Amino acid sequence: MPDIQFTLPPTICQISRLIWQQEGKAFLVGGPVRDLLLNLPCPDWDIAVDFGVRENRLLVERKMAHLLQKTANHLKGKFVFHRQFLTGTVTLPDEKKIDICHTRRESYLKPATLPRVAPAAIDDDLVRRDFTINALALELTPDGTTLIDPFQGRQDLNHRLVRILHPKSFIDDPTRIFRAIRFAIRLDYRIESGTLYLLRAAVKERYPALLTPERILYELRCILAESAALKMVEALLRENVLKSCWTHWHLDRTLLSGLKKLARQGATPKELFCYLLSFLPINEKFPITTEERDTAWLLRHLNPLRRRLMRAKRASTIYHLLKPVPETLLLIMMKLEKRAIQKKCRLFYHQLRFIKPETSAASLINCGVPSGPEIGRLLRRLHNARLDKKVHTREEEIKLLKRWIGKGC
Ligand code: ATP
Repeated sequence: MPDIQFTLPPTICQISRLIWQQEGKAFLVGGPVRDLLLNLPCPDWDIAVDFGVRENRLLVERKMAHLLQKTANHLKGKFVFHRQFLTGTVTLPDEKKIDICHTRRESYLKPATLPRVAPAAIDDDLVRRDFTINALALELTPDGTTLIDPFQGRQDLNHRLVRILHPKSFIDDPTRIFRAIRFAIRLDYRIESGTLYLLRAAVKERYPALLTPERILYELRCILAESAALKMVEALLRENVLKSCWTHWHLDRTLLSGLKKLARQGATPKELFCYLLSFLPINEKFPITTEERDTAWLLRHLNPLRRRLMRAKRASTIYHLLKPVPETLLLIMMKLEKRAIQKKCRLFYHQLRFIKPETSAASLINCGVPSGPEIGRLLRRLHNARLDKKVHTREEEIKLLKRWIGKGC
């Protein structure tokens, strides 16, 4: 019997109809169900499908591919299908994403590795989840919706508790340690006492060290994108989670004070992430962008640049010192450095980087400069003159240029 009525977005209703047309069962699963029950806005929609042909993996894959194709056509979007995991994502024209997966069972061959996946019923799909408050499904039928709540997740929502489903949960997947902290702080819940005991035991046994840097960094990125990121990092440090990820890693106390200062000044998740990264034992296996790697490296070796910036008087000197600095680092420096340095970084960021000479190489040739390296040298001198406000217009540039050429320089 349908038991709860929710108002769902039209796209979700349309996808449900496509699933029913293929004789599948449609479910909303995980986060969206939790958020609907809490009356919170739901950023992502996760749909699970059961086509009822679980023993025939090939047929499941074919039906999933067909559903994703039809959904993408219907909603004028695009889709990707990860056959191995039976999961797909449809991206709508407004870039919103909807995950559509087949209900599945997971088995872990070794702790902290990615699981093997096989089609299974909704109950098996919920058993593999992280916490009771996320092990919820809402079956969508033409007559309404029915809540599926095998682990009393709704009760834990009422009691404001984050609770794992089984004692080996953190060992199977230590990323759940990060997730438990993230959800508890985001929702202002408590980690249930048995769960907290097992979390601490897994940390003590250093299970997080079995995770790949990719999985650790994914969790850290998720945390730093939250509005309560700082409290979450504090909890990670308090519970020694970061320490348990890397041998010989020691907490540098300036990490928290720096993050606090950045967060107070409205730093973006990317800035917070790069700052945190600069305290971690980065190696070539870290899946980070070149900008993130350079920013983290420069943050650790900032003193020479600091000294030169302190001495720099001319705008052109400031320009050349800061031009090679990645934008994220510049934004961090504008928030963390001494006032005098902040001011120079702001000058570069808001003004200097946009200043260019108006004279082109072609005009120089017109003025009689032979083509060759001399052109580049004169353009750089003109650029500096413009930065240092020695010239303000194209006419002044040409006048200065003629003077230089006349002098033979
Ligand atoms: P958010 O609001 O942050 O998106 P969410 O609950 O939707 O929260 P996701 O990371 O999108 O979180 O995961 C979707 C669902 O997949 C979760 O609700 C949970 O049921 C399940 N899940 C995600 N990660 C894990 C994990 N490491 N172990 C078990 N289940 C997980």
